[in-house]
Amino acid sequence: MPKTLIEPFRIKSVEPIRMTTRADRERLLEAAHLNVFLLRAEDVLIDWLTDSGTGAMSSRQWGAIMEGDESYAGARSFYRLEKVVQDLTGMPHFIPTHQGRAAEKVLFSTACQKGQVVPNNCHFDTTRANLEYLGVEALDLVIAEGLQPALIHPFKGNIDLVRAEGLLKERGDAIPFGMLTVTNNTGGGQPVSMANIRDYAALLKRYGKPLVMDICRFAENAMFIKLREPGYADTPVRAIAQEMLSYADGCTMSAKKDGMVNIGGFIALKDDRWLEGARNALILSEGFPTYGGLAGRDLEALAVGLEEGLQEDYLRYRLRTAEYLGERLEAAGIGFVKPTGGHAVYIDARTVLPDMPQAHYPAWALTNALYLEGGIRGVEIGSVMFGKRLADGTETYHGMELVRLAFPRRMYTQSHFDYAAEVIAEVKGRAAHIRGVRIVRQPPFLRHFTGEFAWVD
Ligand SMILES: *Cc1c(COP(=O)(O)O)cnc(C)c1O
Repeated sequence: MPKTLIEPFRIKSVEPIRMTTRADRERLLEAAHLNVFLLRAEDVLIDWLTDSGTGAMSSRQWGAIMEGDESYAGARSFYRLEKVVQDLTGMPHFIPTHQGRAAEKVLFSTACQKGQVVPNNCHFDTTRANLEYLGVEALDLVIAEGLQPALIHPFKGNIDLVRAEGLLKERGDAIPFGMLTVTNNTGGGQPVSMANIRDYAALLKRYGKPLVMDICRFAENAMFIKLREPGYADTPVRAIAQEMLSYADGCTMSAKKDGMVNIGGFIALKDDRWLEGARNALILSEGFPTYGGLAGRDLEALAVGLEEGLQEDYLRYRLRTAEYLGERLEAAGIGFVKPTGGHAVYIDARTVLPDMPQAHYPAWALTNALYLEGGIRGVEIGSVMFGKRLADGTETYHGMELVRLAFPRRMYTQSHFDYAAEVIAEVKGRAAHIRGVRIVRQPPFLRHFTGEFAWVD
């Protein structure tokens, strides 16, 4: 058997990417105030800012787009997607939304109230923001192993059941439901085991609480279960995904991830406890219940995408891609969050720039260096994103200084990954010349998006 795992697709339509010189990139990054979010995408060679909505659709999806029924109410496309979602989730009620955060907003507005608390392995930032906006506390209870980047564990996304039970005992009255995010994006795209999902659901049930799953990367999580959890090696990934979902009472989905589309999301519910409230909230902000902020053609593309995202050849290639880049980094002596997750590799910037003080934002500096060296765009997950400037002018710093490289689905080939591995190794070789940054201007919230920076001399 040949060992090379090939991309399980061939390319029918191509989108040129623009080569730039280092001198070009120096000028472009200066003009973007040393913030890669402020670059134009056409000035980026390999864009690994996010895997959200950035993937390539298949010829079958593009074909399905022509089948879109754009009727305002009761469109054929709605019923087609509804059936796909019902089969996958085992939940009868399907509510389309324009993306994941809209699903969260609509569901939470009816399912929880000020003063309550919602446990999760780790809340994604929009999930947290939507809960906090309602005055609900968003509590992260991932297992301790999930917080140690270099530690290898097969299911670093698992929720800590002891702490979850403690919370249920102490503050049970204030818990409207438990959540679980698969895979755990905030914790490095790490999977949750079937055993953990089952036990968490049973625990919640003992206390009379429903389980809501954030299923953005349910297919990647199911494939990790197949590859890593005893007893699942011969189970089809689709059946694993169905079992995962069988333990949930409801779910929210950003279809921009494992839905394999550029826009879309949904809520699915097992019973009608939140149905009427969610539909009313949907009509107010998203649209009529049979389109929920999407065009009929978007519903069609998603119906196909949800099936394609579960193909095992695709998932094997998908997970192997991240693992392969991890092996190349390991060989170059560069640290990263281990094991590699499904959708991204998180480089530990301190292993590249061990002498740079946190005050010079090493992960931001490394992000800039990757762009300057090879036109690669990643995203800093460190003290710019999570640190704060306090009223007295001092700064708080984040525990980890990571650079996330997130991979759009079906878009880049192995040679792009080989190129990136070389660029990262070259950056490490030039570490002594990499300059840190200071913040020149920052907005009060989410400063990484629009903040402006200057080199530290
Ligand atoms: C992307 C994401 C969301 C939010 O979805 P959007 O489509 O970006 O609004 C929620 N949860 C997780 C885990 C995500 O990765």
